[in-house]
Amino acid sequence: MKVNQAEIVISAVKPSQYPEGNLPEFALAGRSNVGKSSFINRMLGRKALARISSKPGKTQTLNFYLINEIMHFVDVPGYGYAKVSKKEREAWGKMLETYFTSREQLKAVVLITDLRHPPTTDDILMYDFLKHYGIPCVVIATKADKISKSQWQKHLKVTKETLGLSQEDYLILFSSETGEGKDKVWSLLEHLANK
Ligand code: GDP
Repeated sequence: MKVNQAEIVISAVKPSQYPEGNLPEFALAGRSNVGKSSFINRMLGRKALARISSKPGKTQTLNFYLINEIMHFVDVPGYGYAKVSKKEREAWGKMLETYFTSREQLKAVVLITDLRHPPTTDDILMYDFLKHYGIPCVVIATKADKISKSQWQKHLKVTKETLGLSQEDYLILFSSETGEGKDKVWSLLEHLANK
């Protein structure tokens, strides 16, 4: 899909602030520094729509982006950042739980992992959290350009097995550096949006 329009609509902390309407929606989650902003920017063909490596400490919000007036992307605050207090972590968990359990427009969560390494404990927790609520998941193993092509399948297998990926979920190899995987991800999102 060619993205002609992508703009932030709202930073929300509670359901009353979520955008109205029935547009299909995809939430994007991943631990801090995994490459989530780079993924979003590459998908949207923008240099800096999503803030690169925004540090925690500010209000944690769900950032809704309107894409070509046909779908929303929701940027979820990154997790696994050691310096976040217990209170902040709890607020983050509550905000996500509310969102995941109440948002009917949500078609799938795009979970970003690092292809180079096995998914972390936090990645597994996030995946299990999604499965607990029966939310379809698209795992994006990014930074593929950082390892040689001959290693890709092996690393994909580790990602799949470490998460215990279900049959109904998807795993796509990606690189924000080269654009590898971008067309595949768009095809899948368009398919899921129309389901
Ligand atoms: P975020 O905190 O998850 O939003 O992560 P960022 O998008 O800010 O990326 C963290 C760092 O990884 C930055 O220095 C990016 O330039 C780098 N990075 C992200 N994706 C890729 C990728 O696909 N390939 C390479 N080589 N570097 C990447």
